[in-house]
Amino acid sequence: MSTVTLPDPDRAVMARRNEVVKQLKKLAPKAVVIADLEGRRTFESDALAAYRRLPLAVVLPANTEEVSAILRFCYENHVKVVPRGAGTSLCGGATPLEDSIVLCLSRMNQVLEIDAANRVARVEAGITNIAITQAAAAKGFFYAPDPSSQVACTVGGNIATNSGGAHCLKYGVTVNNLLGVRMVMVDGEIVDFGGTYLDAPNYDFLPLITGSEGQLGVVTEASVRLIAAPEGARPVLIGFDSANAAASCVAAIIASGIVPVAIEFMDRPAIHVCEHFVPAGYPLDAEAALIVEVEGSEDEIEYLLEKIEDIAQDYNPISMRRSQSDEESALIWKGRKAAFGAIGQISDYMCMDGVIPLSALPEALTGVSLICRKYRFDVANIFHAGDGNLHPLILYDANDPGQLERVELCGAEILKLCVELGGCLTGEHGVGIEKRELMYEQFTDEDIDQQVRIKEELDPAWLLNPGKVFPILGRGALKQSMDLTRLDAAPDGLPPEDTLVDEVEFDVEYIEGEERL
Ligand SMILES: Cc1cc2nc3c(=O)[nH]c(=O)nc-3n(C[C@H](O)[C@H](O)[C@H](O)COP(=O)(O)OP(=O)(O)OC[C@H]3O[C@@H](n4cnc5c(N)ncnc54)[C@H](O)[C@@H]3O)c2cc1C
Repeated sequence: MSTVTLPDPDRAVMARRNEVVKQLKKLAPKAVVIADLEGRRTFESDALAAYRRLPLAVVLPANTEEVSAILRFCYENHVKVVPRGAGTSLCGGATPLEDSIVLCLSRMNQVLEIDAANRVARVEAGITNIAITQAAAAKGFFYAPDPSSQVACTVGGNIATNSGGAHCLKYGVTVNNLLGVRMVMVDGEIVDFGGTYLDAPNYDFLPLITGSEGQLGVVTEASVRLIAAPEGARPVLIGFDSANAAASCVAAIIASGIVPVAIEFMDRPAIHVCEHFVPAGYPLDAEAALIVEVEGSEDEIEYLLEKIEDIAQDYNPISMRRSQSDEESALIWKGRKAAFGAIGQISDYMCMDGVIPLSALPEALTGVSLICRKYRFDVANIFHAGDGNLHPLILYDANDPGQLERVELCGAEILKLCVELGGCLTGEHGVGIEKRELMYEQFTDEDIDQQVRIKEELDPAWLLNPGKVFPILGRGALKQSMDLTRLDAAPDGLPPEDTLVDEVEFDVEYIEGEERL
């Protein structure tokens, strides 16, 4: 059983479910409202699938006005709202609550404008990340932040989690590529922040909104920077006989002043699983491999790759292979981008997401391996090494009682290590329910108080995505904490209902008091 908890659902709201559904259908006529059990089950978890909750209902609005009407209704009727894009969160950021509706933006997926002259794309928040680049490609542009989940995840979700990706080493993460948003506040007010160019004449709230994990409002539109597509790009694949050698090579490349577009790290387990899934020619005899990509004109690419290969020589590589064609480059990236899916095919896993200073990479990898050994788990490491963004994937068996709790403890220890090494708790996946109780490892009481004051200013009744991000247990337990219900991993923790009913019974276990992760 898990140690993770969520606030006890408001039974008065649960009892009004029929009425809530009826009203939602009336006030947002173009919205899709899902109230049946099977439909709601599709949304019971995000990509942190170990945790599930069945929402009151799911609403998929068609436009900003409907989002506004839905939020106003929820505000007036004290119904909680969990904003959702594609549900690819790996930290439970979009896990529903039983007394919440899920407000899913995936139908709002239009490109509103590609303004090549000003290098801006204006899009609806539910568009997938990759669709922006696809829409801009004909005009010679692309959208730089490229999460590995980019075929599925939405720009609204990327903004809410400040997503990164392989190519963010050179171009920055979401916050560095965002110019403006349209956002609906908890009471239904529609507000524009930023604009369609840098330094738009407003108070700059974008860094506050970016990474706010659905706590402050629901983003419905975004204006993002477009980057001119480079003449070309090419990766080199370098195999090493130890993870430490690969890690030291990453630090040396960065220290040399070269800015590759991407430096991706894979350890031995990751190399083998990915190569089995997509035969990309990864070095199966290596303990670790780097994919280092540079871009520019043909001459620049040659020059930079030579420099990188020179640096790598100091770490005794056992293989070094420059891609010779666009097809080969695409294959190398296909293997990397399929990594999480490939590992998911052989085992359940919990994907950690912490950041460390680059110089601490060797120490961090040794630490991760020792921690996993202590908890008796195998681990595969595959991550954006150039950013110092670690992704240990802890392999476990979700069907073996006790393993979930152990993997949570193991993961928490890894994240604490990141903080101890001078890094931070979250890289690109957010805090969600997963890292909520670790916030005090990184922030002081004053830091968290200030964050809470902003939250309470914009969402005084804690209706937007409660139970996420802010600690609700132990020291400084917040006003949002009430009675807490333990979040079971097993589906039998769900309300046993199969139709729309007036009153919903629960058979989940309630716990009292304070218990820390
Ligand atoms: C296989 C795989 C690979 C991944 N690789 C990466 C990676 O390389 N880089 C990376 O950064 N992440 C990665 N992720 C994590 C995830 O894809 C990102 O966090 C992504 O930004 C989530 O987008 P989403 O649309 O799925 O959001 P969801 O999962 O639906 O929601 C995530 C959070 O955003 C909030 N939210 C969603 N939409 C809105 C909105 N319109 N307004 C306000 N709040 C909103 C939700 O409430 C929730 O807190 C990966 C996930 C998977 C499954």
